[in-house]
Amino acid sequence: MKLHSWGRYPVSASKTHKALSATALQKSLSGLSGGSAIARGLGRSYGDSALADEVICTERVDQFYAFSEDTGLLRCAAGVTLDSILNTFMPRGWFLPVVPGTRFVTVGGAIASDIHGKNHHVDGSFCQHISALSLLLPSGEIVQCSVTENSELFFATCAGMGLTGVILEATLSLRKIHSSAITQNTLRARNLEEVFAQFEDHHDSSYSVAWLDCLAQKEHLGRSLLYLGEHAKDNQLKKQGRGTISIPFATPSQMLNRYSMRLFNSAYYNKPTNTTQAIKLEAYKYFFPLDSIAHWNRLYGRRGFVQYQCVIPDPSALDAMRSILSTVSAAGKGSFLSVLKKLGPSNKNLLSFPMQGYTLAMDFKVERSIFSLLDELDHIVADHGGRLYLAKDARMSETMFKRFYPRWEEMQSIRERIGANKVCNSLQSTRLGL
Ligand SMILES: Cc1cc2nc3c(=O)[nH]c(=O)nc-3n(C[C@H](O)[C@H](O)[C@H](O)COP(=O)(O)OP(=O)(O)OC[C@H]3O[C@@H](n4cnc5c(N)ncnc54)[C@H](O)[C@@H]3O)c2cc1C
Repeated sequence: MKLHSWGRYPVSASKTHKALSATALQKSLSGLSGGSAIARGLGRSYGDSALADEVICTERVDQFYAFSEDTGLLRCAAGVTLDSILNTFMPRGWFLPVVPGTRFVTVGGAIASDIHGKNHHVDGSFCQHISALSLLLPSGEIVQCSVTENSELFFATCAGMGLTGVILEATLSLRKIHSSAITQNTLRARNLEEVFAQFEDHHDSSYSVAWLDCLAQKEHLGRSLLYLGEHAKDNQLKKQGRGTISIPFATPSQMLNRYSMRLFNSAYYNKPTNTTQAIKLEAYKYFFPLDSIAHWNRLYGRRGFVQYQCVIPDPSALDAMRSILSTVSAAGKGSFLSVLKKLGPSNKNLLSFPMQGYTLAMDFKVERSIFSLLDELDHIVADHGGRLYLAKDARMSETMFKRFYPRWEEMQSIRERIGANKVCNSLQSTRLGL
């Protein structure tokens, strides 16, 4: 069947194996026909990391196995979604330690990408809250891994993009909360320097994220709205509103051009916003504003879009972001959603994305001229010691990947040792020479 992930680019012809249990996943792995095969969660990665000749779908293996009200430790199958964890445990006063910008991802996908949230500068990434996982190796053997048991395999599997096997289950720590609401403060920044200074001034804020007008130029370059968040403490644990509107079909991509983008960006920056007082809002509205528009990825038209997400380490982050934004703005390309976040230190996972510094994410509709622009941005990122996020990538070159992720050789030797290099390969890993 034809398959794509969130960016709707690229599209692959893949055979899918839909398993209902760990045993069925084991059978799927042993019944492969010899081409490339990779695990898949909900396909919320943007590019080709969950695409291959054969795709092993884990989303229906979604049981909760155990939860301790004393410790907050949850053991569940890898196909469980963050949505289902939040809907089950938030009313009982527990929240996930790290959430991405959508709650529609699986635990397996969150581990395989070592996802980060708006609190990375304080709490690190998702895998730092995983105490154990079980992994189905290409040989059919199931191994337990943690920072102390089979730790090499643990650090290769966390952020390993499915390239060591299929994660079957995991134990993760939930965090106690006393409200289902978030107290949000919004700050308006007139340019990039100002928003960087605001991030630094509020570095002890639990959550922070800035939306940025990527088409503003000159003295307005990087103007933003910075959203700071804290869990409220009002002892009210309510079910969250889950209403959505839906984009029924891919919209004509001509509607997205530099004029409509400029108009949208300017209107968003100037929208009436309470910057003097904190407001209280449902946690889902703070963390997942886009989840209320189902299939918003269709807005980028039939050919889809790519997300460009880079991180630049601290000393040169401001300079590099200035160059990136000027290059994008000068090319007249733009994004509805440009998001800037502060990240904390990196961890031991071989292919983990975060590093101490700043990350910027921008969406671009797929058109021929976009690829040379993004190649140009890659050089800026590489020259400043940064890297791109594999979960968002659909196009980076092997040369750049190996520069961005110098521990790729360790990853490859672990893959060779467990035979994963012969079985677990995605379109992305093949493109990147893994
Ligand atoms: C709107 C939106 C906002 C987002 N915001 C953020 C954000 O703020 N921070 C962030 O870090 N990410 C973010 N993401 C990216 C998303 O969190 C990751 O791509 C995540 O991995 C998707 O999970 P999934 O279950 O859909 O996995 P898929 O997209 O299906 O797969 C992603 C990778 O995980 C592997 N994988 C999946 N399941 C397993 C398994 N059981 N065993 C082994 N490997 C597996 C796949 O092989 C693939 O390499 C966002 C995505 C969207 C669409």
